[in-house]
Amino acid sequence: MEVKLAECAGFCFGVKRAIDTVYEQIETGKTIYTYGPIVHNEEVVRELEEKGVRVIEGHEELAECAAEVRKAADETARPTVIIRAHGVPRETQELMEQNGLECIDATCPFVKRIHRIVEKAGEQGMQVVIAGNPGHPEVEGIRGWCSGPVTVIETEEEAERFTPEEGRQVCLVSQTTFNYNKFQSIVEIFRKKGYNDNIVSTICNATEERQRSAQALAAEADVMIVIGGRHSSNSRKLYEICSRECAHTYFIQTLDDLHLELPKAVRLVGITAGASTPNNLIEEVQNYVRINF
Ligand code: SF4
Repeated sequence: MEVKLAECAGFCFGVKRAIDTVYEQIETGKTIYTYGPIVHNEEVVRELEEKGVRVIEGHEELAECAAEVRKAADETARPTVIIRAHGVPRETQELMEQNGLECIDATCPFVKRIHRIVEKAGEQGMQVVIAGNPGHPEVEGIRGWCSGPVTVIETEEEAERFTPEEGRQVCLVSQTTFNYNKFQSIVEIFRKKGYNDNIVSTICNATEERQRSAQALAAEADVMIVIGGRHSSNSRKLYEICSRECAHTYFIQTLDDLHLELPKAVRLVGITAGASTPNNLIEEVQNYVRINF
């Protein structure tokens, strides 16, 4: 039996950059907060918590953190807040600055690019449409950089139903982890409706590469294992894609979740992992399957 890892799997550039930023800041000895979990991976967040990194959830906790700043007598006691790779709305960033928190922006440059696109589109009076999951923090962040009307659509049906406000041009972008094929279908629908002047494909290559290589591996594998955080949208999408190609697809967070029962006829077990899954977890699962089956 062969065990094969997808060509592209695990930490992407933006996530690695954000986590490296947190580790660099830990070295300074200051109190470190991240605004929301730094990545959608509970293992990574737990490890950071053990090193004293605290997670701020929402504006209320941000205000408490700011109160701490005001109490702090010396500069070294001033807490640092790190913005994670997903980014935050402009309002949140401004709130951090207004409250005098030391703010380090680890927003992935690919996400930052979307912020700039929608900000400019808003200034030009366009209606921004984001193809993505409305509840995802990255989408909330992008939304927060739009000054005019903004609509989030997730499905082709919603794209069909969409009509912009009277007299508004449309600017279409996507969440970086949006499904590539679904985005193409939405683009097609928009083209037919004549909303095709400002379509910017902002799906990140890391996502596309992971989705393509996961699909290719799942198509030849008898069993597929997807490793990723419960709340990681890109990991869930990998699971969706692999399940379509391979009926025996497992979604796990850590090795503890893996209860594999392999039929004798299995020739190939494929493994892939979301962009927020650390290498040590991938190796652990890979070794386990190699040794035990
Ligand atoms: Fe950046 Fe792409 Fe990683 Fe998102 S998936 S953090 S956009 S590199």
